Amino acid sequence: MTAPPVKRRPAVPLVDPARCTGCGWCVAACPDHLLELHTQAGRKSSVLPPAQRERCTGCVQCIPVCHFGAIRMKRLDGGAAA
Ligand code: SF4
Ligand code: SF4
Repeated sequence: MTAPPVKRRPAVPLVDPARCTGCGWCVAACPDHLLELHTQAGRKSSVLPPAQRERCTGCVQCIPVCHFGAIRMKRLDGGAAA
């Protein structure tokens, strides 16, 4: 019997806090509710917490809803951003 295929997560979102306005659209768009709004130095920004990284499917649904170009996908194999 062969093992089931491993679900691949080629990339996860990386938020640029300098561009993020904390609007929360990406948080609402994630079907698995993995993104969170964090406040640092009085500014809100979206974060994929390390504990949630493993659960991210790389579906990219959080990307097009960001109107500020604050999210890019970071490949997990260390390659260039997708
Ligand atoms: S890539 Fe998909 S699963 Fe991962 S944080 Fe974005 S919307 Fe959620
Ligand atoms: S949609 Fe963009 S600007 Fe809004 S919280 Fe997410 S990353 Fe930040």
